[in-house]
Amino acid sequence: MSAEEFTLRGGVVINPAAGFAAQADVVVAQGVVQDIALPGKCDTAGEIIEVAGKLVAPGLVDIHVHLREPGQTHKETIATGTRAAVVGGFTSVCCMSNTTPPIDTPDRVRELVDRINHTAACKVYPFGAATKGHGQDELTDFTGMLEAGCVAITDDAFPLQSRQLKRQALLQAAEVGCVFIAHPEDKSISADGLINEGELSAKLGVPGMPRRATAEAVAEWVGLHDCGAYLHLAHIATKDEVELVTEALPTWTGRLSMETAPHYLSVTEDAILRFGADAKVNPPLRTVDDNTAMAAAVRNDIITIIATDHAPHALDEKALGLEEAPLGLVGLETSLAATATVLKPRTPADWLWLLDKFTAAPAQLLGLEAGRLVAGEPADIAIIDPQVQWTVRPERFESKGRATPFAGQTLRSQVWGTVVDGRFVFRAGELLV
Ligand SMILES: [Zn+2]
Repeated sequence: MSAEEFTLRGGVVINPAAGFAAQADVVVAQGVVQDIALPGKCDTAGEIIEVAGKLVAPGLVDIHVHLREPGQTHKETIATGTRAAVVGGFTSVCCMSNTTPPIDTPDRVRELVDRINHTAACKVYPFGAATKGHGQDELTDFTGMLEAGCVAITDDAFPLQSRQLKRQALLQAAEVGCVFIAHPEDKSISADGLINEGELSAKLGVPGMPRRATAEAVAEWVGLHDCGAYLHLAHIATKDEVELVTEALPTWTGRLSMETAPHYLSVTEDAILRFGADAKVNPPLRTVDDNTAMAAAVRNDIITIIATDHAPHALDEKALGLEEAPLGLVGLETSLAATATVLKPRTPADWLWLLDKFTAAPAQLLGLEAGRLVAGEPADIAIIDPQVQWTVRPERFESKGRATPFAGQTLRSQVWGTVVDGRFVFRAGELLV
């Protein structure tokens, strides 16, 4: 990528990693941030870009993205998924290991990193699978995969079931010093469930997924408090799960954290009536009470990270209908706006708090050199217009996936520009990669 030289002038810099929220100019050259200074106090360079009224933030970081490559490129590719990412303001994404074949050996990590280096529009950090072939029998070579370029190990999409295996996984993660990201789900309870179990599932005659399916799994995970592990729980979506983790925190010997996704903050199971399979996701959309509890947990900083669980499927797969279509939504192009629409940040201080969940917090969890604006470091930047309202049109998505319960909804705030390594990859609605 050729670098550019420019000065972002008159915007409000929001840099959660440094607790900084104030008007400042940002100078970018040779791929790095050269200076962040009070208005008019720096030597401007290159093109002057007026960004008054906009927020200048670190490029966003999403630690839960399914890029589907290798092997499922009819659903998404590294190229299409990362183009969707930069439209959403993300400059770093972590990709899940449930590809075909799965990312479960150091060689497969190296092959994936090679593909990423050739086709990604932003930075991509791979996760390694917890068990060989997602088989629930034998743990993978955590150390080898980390050395090959993985930044965490996960059981996402193929949740570990036996308590013994969970314990082994956490002990091994603690030993090698990596974060373990768990998809909490007890398959013996969720069984064939497709949507929230309740009146709606009964009325539609569709198998329901009981709330206990995730709560029981979370209870088992947090019961492994003595392993000294860094455990991060993915896509927390119910009040029960938050309560279990909150109770367990004082006994936990390593680090314990949670993420939720934007759709769990504001969308209920009723979206199934309007969107059918396009609102079918795992874990399922639940109730207003759960939405309220998720938003409260984010407000209280109990949930510290927002991640999309961007899980695209091909249009003809989602067209199979509620019972046959695969589970998963897309989220990269709506994530920040959908969250801001619910949590309503108004002041720079509000944005500092909200953007922490999209930048510094996820980057710090995984030790990524991302999610912050520092002079001398790579210029990965998201420029956000906090006032704009826009309507979600899935047919315009860069992602190959179109399933979103936000279709047709008017959201608040929009990404105006995205800079990766000092180069605009998205600017004023135009994708430049
Ligand atoms: Zn998952």
